[in-house]
Amino acid sequence: MPVYYHSTRDSGFTATASQAILQGLSKDGGLFVPDHIPELDKSLEELSRMDYRQVAYEVMKLLLSDFTKEELEYCISSAYDQKFDTEAIAPMRYADGAYFLELFHGRTIAFKDMALSILPYLMTVSAGKNQVKNDIVILTATSGDTGKAALAGFADVKGTRIIVFYPKNGVSAIQEKQMVTQKGDNTLVVGIHGNFDDAQTGVKKIFGDEELAKTLDQAGFQFSSANSINIGRLVPQIVYYVYAYTRLLGEGKVKAGKEINVVVPTGNFGNILAAYYAKEMGLPVHKLICASNDNKVLYDFFSTGTYDKNREFVLTTSPSMDILVSSNLERLIYKIAGEDAAQNAELMRQLSAGGVYSITDTMREGLKDFVGGCATVSETTETIRHIYEKDQYVIDPHTAVAACVYEKHVQESSDGHVTVIASTASPYKFTRSVMEAIDPASANEEDFALADRLCELSGVKIPAAVEEIRNAPVLHKTVCEKEEMTDVILKFLHID
Ligand SMILES: *Cc1c(COP(=O)(O)O)cnc(C)c1O
Repeated sequence: MPVYYHSTRDSGFTATASQAILQGLSKDGGLFVPDHIPELDKSLEELSRMDYRQVAYEVMKLLLSDFTKEELEYCISSAYDQKFDTEAIAPMRYADGAYFLELFHGRTIAFKDMALSILPYLMTVSAGKNQVKNDIVILTATSGDTGKAALAGFADVKGTRIIVFYPKNGVSAIQEKQMVTQKGDNTLVVGIHGNFDDAQTGVKKIFGDEELAKTLDQAGFQFSSANSINIGRLVPQIVYYVYAYTRLLGEGKVKAGKEINVVVPTGNFGNILAAYYAKEMGLPVHKLICASNDNKVLYDFFSTGTYDKNREFVLTTSPSMDILVSSNLERLIYKIAGEDAAQNAELMRQLSAGGVYSITDTMREGLKDFVGGCATVSETTETIRHIYEKDQYVIDPHTAVAACVYEKHVQESSDGHVTVIASTASPYKFTRSVMEAIDPASANEEDFALADRLCELSGVKIPAAVEEIRNAPVLHKTVCEKEEMTDVILKFLHID
C-alpha cells in the first residue's frame, strides 16, 4: 500500500512523498506525516547481510512510495559514497557498556550528514517528478550542525540556492568557521543577533508568508526546507537504526527479535523520532531514551505531560541541543492524539500563544516507550573524562549527554538490554569542551592546536573537515537582526 503524507494540523490534505519533500512544511504550519507506517518487508537476518546502501533502499522504498527503484538507488548511491571516510558509513564502537553508533563519518563530521548528503538528490528528483520550473531556495535555521551539513550538501547543486541563518553567539568556533568558509555561488550564511529559537521562528514565519512566496514565484524561485521537519531528512535517519540492529545481529551480539535500547541526544526531536518510526516499522526496540542537556524541556515533558518553553535558555557545551521548541515533537503529539489533527492543532496554538500545553492521560499512555533523562554541563564533562580514562575512547559533548543519561537510567532501573547510543558528532567538532574534560592543562591553547593535542591523546586522525578550514578564508560576513531576515534573502536573490 503506497504511503501518502498529510499535515499534522489538517488530515484532509494529501501529498505524495516527493511533494512533501519539495514543500518541507505544510501550508497550515503543520508537519507532514505518513498516513500509515509500513512494516519492514525483509527479515532482520536478510537485512543483516546487506550493506548500508542496500539497507537504505529497503527502508526508504517503504516510505517514499512515489520514487521509482532507479530514482531511489540513484539518490542512495550518490549520497553514501566516498564522502564518508569509512565503508561502513555508520560504524559502531563498544565502550563503557554500550554500543556507540558513530554517525559522524560524513563530510561535516556531525550526524546531520546522514540525511543531508541525500536530501539534495531527493529534492532535485522530486522537482523533476513534479514539473517544478522554479529554482529551489533552501532556507535553514541552524544551531550549528545542520547549517554546514546543508551547505555541503547543496553547494553548487544546479537549480538550488541555500541560505543558512545561525545564532551569531550560539555556535562553537569550529562550527562557525566551517560555515563562514563555505564555497559555492549559490550559498549564503548569515549570523543573527538572537538564539536558535529566534532563527527557527524567523524561518518558520518566512515560510508562512504568502505575499513573499508570490514575490519569489514571480522571480522564478520557491522556498523549501532542509531542517529536520522535512520528511526527506527524517526518512534517511530511520535507516541507521535498522542498520545498527542488523549489524549487532550479524555479529551475534543480539538474537533476532530481542529488543535493544536506543539512546539519543536530543534537540529538535528528529533523530529520536526516526528511531521511534524504526520501532513502528518492526525493529525490536525496548526503550527510546531521550537525552536532554540543561535545556530539559523534553525531560520535564516526559515526566509531567506538560510542555513548557517558558524558561531561561541555557547556553551549554552541547549547542546543537540548546533548543526550547523541539519541532519534530509535533509529529509524536499528533500520533498520540490518535492522529487527531484538530486536537494537535489546538495544542500547537497554545504553544505558540502561551509557550505551554499539557497532554491528556490517554495521550501520556502513548509515551510509554520513551524515557526522558537529562545531564548538566558538569556531568557531561565528567562523562567524557570517565569514558576516556576507562576505555581511551573520546566522545563529543552531545554524545556524552546521552552516555550520562544512559548511565543514570541503568542505575535507576537496572535495565539490562543491549544498548545503542547515537553518537552524533566527532569530538573534533567540539575540541575545546572535549579537551577541557580530558586535558584541562591545554585549555588556553587556540582551536587548531587543541585539535593537534586531541589527535595525540586519542590516536584518531584529524578529520579532513577540520584540516580543510584551518587556513580557509572567511567568505560570509553578513550579520543581521532577526527582523531583517526577509530583506537579506531578497537581496541575495536580487529581488527588489
Ligand atoms: C542536531 C544535533 C543533535 C540533535 O538532534 P535532533 O534531531 O535535533 O534531536 C544532537 N547532536 C548533534 C551533534 C547534532 O548536530
